[in-house]
Amino acid sequence: MDHEQLLHLGRALRLLGEHGDALTRDTPREKLLEIRTDINRALDLVDRLTGPRPLTDCPQHPYGAVDEDAPDRCLICQTHRRRAEERRKREMGWTPTR
Ligand SMILES: [Zn+2]
Repeated sequence: MDHEQLLHLGRALRLLGEHGDALTRDTPREKLLEIRTDINRALDLVDRLTGPRPLTDCPQHPYGAVDEDAPDRCLICQTHRRRAEERRKREMGWTPTR
């Protein structure tokens, strides 16, 4: 892990901590917007350390195709689940009921 970037991230996070300590009911909107900028800077630093952001929540296919309707946003796993479901329904249909 890049030592220099890690130091940057540490500084950014400590700054956010200071913002947190300084928060009061009278904190002006401008200050909150400044905090927002500093949060985004910290997120950018985290992204630089972790590499590209995963596209899905699937641990097996983090950079696979996205299906917004899937619980883990993974099209590959969702396709497997749909096929399994169809197979299950078909098999149930074939099972004679008495
Ligand atoms: Zn998947």
